[in-house]
Amino acid sequence: MRVRLRNPERVEQLDGPLTVAQVLAQLDLDPNTVLVIHEGELVTASHQLGDDAEVEVRPVISGGAGPTCVVCRAPAAIEEPRHRSAWCPSHFADHVQGQIRKAIDRPVAGSEGRMFSYADRILVAVSGGKDSLALWDALLSMGYRADGLYVGLGIGGYSQRSGEICREFAAERAAPRGGRLIEVDLAEEYGYTTPSGSQASSRSTCGVCGLSKRYVFNRVAVDEGYDVMVTGHNLDDEAATLLGNVLRWNDDFLARQRPVLPETGANQVRKCKPLYRLSEREMAAYCVVTGIDYVVEECPLVDGNTGHELKEALNVLERGSPGAKAQFLFGFLDRHAEHFAETTDDGPRLVACQECGMPTVTEICAFCRQRERILATLPLAGQKAEA
Ligand code: AMP
Ligand code: ZN
Ligand code: ZN
Repeated sequence: MRVRLRNPERVEQLDGPLTVAQVLAQLDLDPNTVLVIHEGELVTASHQLGDDAEVEVRPVISGGAGPTCVVCRAPAAIEEPRHRSAWCPSHFADHVQGQIRKAIDRPVAGSEGRMFSYADRILVAVSGGKDSLALWDALLSMGYRADGLYVGLGIGGYSQRSGEICREFAAERAAPRGGRLIEVDLAEEYGYTTPSGSQASSRSTCGVCGLSKRYVFNRVAVDEGYDVMVTGHNLDDEAATLLGNVLRWNDDFLARQRPVLPETGANQVRKCKPLYRLSEREMAAYCVVTGIDYVVEECPLVDGNTGHELKEALNVLERGSPGAKAQFLFGFLDRHAEHFAETTDDGPRLVACQECGMPTVTEICAFCRQRERILATLPLAGQKAEA
């Protein structure tokens, strides 16, 4: 017999005769969630269906047969309570790109400009993790001119695997769409690694790493003539940063926490965070549905001050009321201009670093000062071996 099923539409062939109850059992369907229709009539569990019968099984409880895609009604692969939606794999990828497009077109409420345009040359900082590779992939899919930048930080096997994943992505997924990977090795280029630099300067690994990355990102973008630099910071990252800044009432940081940081002088490029509307979980799911291989492990040097507790706290709130995290962050961004207009308009005057020429507020930039301090205590040969 021919059994037509709905949501999603499909046809099963079964050998009859069978009762309606037997048909539903064979199809693994709960009789309480469907209606069975035979020759235009509703039929009940004990009704006999011949081998040549044509029947329709129609779901009656919305969501009862498992969540379906809000776009095509196929079985959903992922649900997002914040959007009260679920998607099949391909429409989920569309949803992610749609949120990225929204972020690019209208970074914050009432903002004049877009993050960047199709004419701009974009440099994506890629770590080998889910967010930045997904971002690079999505931008290329959307037709943007995007290259990748990987900074080798010399964190043992972790950095090795991250570099390999980025190279593989570049060769297999970026190159065919015109994207190339730029690599900068901290040890080769600047004479220290994150661990050796941290030890030599007695600064935290995250501190040394963060300052080095921010410097290299801007430096490469400037030297290679990119218009804009983008990072994979997502909704969870930004909401956690915001909570941290609010808990400490750090006005300076609050003033600078925006999805777009315009260039304020020479030798600076605009910095954007096109993933600020998407959660960590959505980015991981995007990688899975689009087949992106990424480094799942976390950096082994994280020393507890990286916002994990803040993320956990926000996740507790999110579980209780889906959308809380997004409301917190987007509400802040919506009010940003109103509350921080003066602070953001004229920041401190920038001058060129006397060592490297990059913009700074002091004579020698923070990066050059840190590097000097590191190299003073670090015999170059020793750390080369370590790298
Ligand atoms: P994290 O600070 O590790 O959460 O990373 C935030 C963003 O910085 C990532 O999404 C990437 O865009 C970028 N990033 C982090 N590590 C690297 C790296 N080693 N090389 C290039 N970009 C990176
Ligand atoms: Zn779909
Ligand atoms: Zn400098």
